[in-house]
Amino acid sequence: MRILIAGAGIAGLAAALALVRKGHAVQVIEQAAALEEVGAGLQLGPNAMCVLAALGLGEAVASAGQAPAAITLRDGRSAREILKVPLGEAAKRRWGAAYVTLHRADLVGILAEALERAQPGALALGVTLAAIDHRPDGVAITTASGDAHSADLLIGADGIRSQVRDTLVGPDTPRFTGHVAWRALVRIDPADPAAPPPGVGAWLGPRRHAVTYRIRPDLVNLVAVTEQADWREEGWNLPGDADRLRADFAGWNALTRLLDRVEHPLRWALHDRKPMRAWHKGRAVLIGDACHPMLPFLAQGAAMGIEDGFALAELLPMTGDPEPALARFFALRQPRTARIQAMARSNGVDFHEGNPLATLAMRLPLGRAAASRPDAVMARWDWLYGGGPGGLHGGKLA
Ligand SMILES: Cc1cc2nc3c(=O)[nH]c(=O)nc-3n(C[C@H](O)[C@H](O)[C@H](O)COP(=O)(O)OP(=O)(O)OC[C@H]3O[C@@H](n4cnc5c(N)ncnc54)[C@H](O)[C@@H]3O)c2cc1C
Repeated sequence: MRILIAGAGIAGLAAALALVRKGHAVQVIEQAAALEEVGAGLQLGPNAMCVLAALGLGEAVASAGQAPAAITLRDGRSAREILKVPLGEAAKRRWGAAYVTLHRADLVGILAEALERAQPGALALGVTLAAIDHRPDGVAITTASGDAHSADLLIGADGIRSQVRDTLVGPDTPRFTGHVAWRALVRIDPADPAAPPPGVGAWLGPRRHAVTYRIRPDLVNLVAVTEQADWREEGWNLPGDADRLRADFAGWNALTRLLDRVEHPLRWALHDRKPMRAWHKGRAVLIGDACHPMLPFLAQGAAMGIEDGFALAELLPMTGDPEPALARFFALRQPRTARIQAMARSNGVDFHEGNPLATLAMRLPLGRAAASRPDAVMARWDWLYGGGPGGLHGGKLA
């Protein structure tokens, strides 16, 4: 099929590569003049790494990043350990792939290069989708510079403010969730005993939490989240004041050395949407944040976009009417992504001690169980990290 993809974020690039590998002719248009991923670090769970391995990129992505040995939840002020989820070799054994943390730009670069090798010229930068004409046997689009393109299928991978989405279900603004994330990349001396410990660290406290992980041995990605009633500032990704960040996390001594080194943090207003009832209409379909934007509290937004792209490529026929495959795609993917959207939201409450029962449950018995039975802790995540590439869970595709 001739397939047009709007948006060269992680979802659009992963979909393009998976579709080209299947033999489809793909054109990706991206409004930005250069591929620049703001926000710096990214965690890729074994579910995403399984897909990337199936696309032949497992080694390249793993060697561009770090493989943390564990995710450790700690109390932000006392640094007391609450729960540890083993990763590293244990993740590979249990879920078939590593858990990787890396620079977003490295992942985007690897995907874009692989796409260029697989189908030279598939990606056009500086091209903005401006208008869409949905037709019975395809789509016709016009770009902002007035060029016309047609395709058998349009994939809207154009992010949380998706224009393709608006033409499918009508305009709607994403909701501010009441969370603001500070984001920064911080250079550290790996030998410094006051540096945050290696691995993924989630530091929890009242109405705030922070996540730290290394994307290179001497480079820590920091995401620090606080609550705020509303967002009245222009834009949702703004330069922030490092002193205000330090004040927000004053007394979190294990992070002090790191926070002292932060120079130019970004402030990021977090938005999401409720799960949607449809992702496709006629010859157009949505993937990634365009159809299931979520809070980052499960670190799965990009992973879900990667899974979407792979699953869509597996399901689409080579010719003919794609609509039945789009319906199957929605039926397969919507429940999984909706579950993850809901869990990310409830983590926002639990991480911030907003749910006293959950906080108690998390802090008391789980920590002890984790130490004595790490397998039991890992088993809780089989539904998310296991199941093979694309969250397809083997037989479901048949
Ligand atoms: C603080 C924070 C931390 C996160 N951490 C993680 C994590 O650790 N792991 C994880 O898996 N996820 C994480 N996420 C989520 C993840 O960043 C997103 O889910 C993911 O980047 C979405 O990818 P996407 O390709 O769907 O959309 P986007 O990245 O938004 O890409 C959409 C693309 O479409 C382009 N576009 C838009 N409109 C048009 C148009 N009209 N014409 C042409 N192009 C257009 C845009 O320029 C953009 O390049 C995090 C998110 C936040 C906010």
